[in-house]
Amino acid sequence: MEDKKIKILIVDDDQTVRETYADIFRQEGFEVSEAEDGLDGLDKATKENPDIIFTGIIMPRMDGFALKEALAKNVNTSNVPVIMLSHMGREEDRVKAQELGVKDFIVQGMVMPKQVVERIRNIFGSVKYRIKFSTNELDASKLAQEFHFEKKFECSNCQTEMVLELEASNIDKKEFKAKFVCPKCG
Ligand SMILES: [Zn+2]
Repeated sequence: MEDKKIKILIVDDDQTVRETYADIFRQEGFEVSEAEDGLDGLDKATKENPDIIFTGIIMPRMDGFALKEALAKNVNTSNVPVIMLSHMGREEDRVKAQELGVKDFIVQGMVMPKQVVERIRNIFGSVKYRIKFSTNELDASKLAQEFHFEKKFECSNCQTEMVLELEASNIDKKEFKAKFVCPKCG
């Protein structure tokens, strides 16, 4: 089953930036539209109902912050996640973005476009990895005892050996939430 296409609106006054990301997003199967500044972006956001908005900060007529504020005031766009692309990576901009509820703040040149795609996907569905672990090494038996797992970490339903499921919680810091799951029962 194929996933529903993610509709992304790119807002930036720099055509090269727009084209670069538009190419990458299209390669990833996203549906892409573009706007040249915040005002144009606001207009397209209300008309096209994108799933996510990827915007620059400094732009003529309306900057990225004013765009985020305007989107928040409109019931039709207030829930659309906004990602900001910062060309300068100023800390005060990161703080302001966070205060405005921007989902992610990407500093150009610090985050590879492929990682940007990963972070966008992460907003829509968490990234999960299933890992097999050794049930008798290090602290595994201690953990089994203290948390009342079956001795061999077997699924109580089908007796299949459980695996660890890691869910990315912060891709930047490589942090994960972990839980035991049965590979058959889920
Ligand atoms: Zn099971």
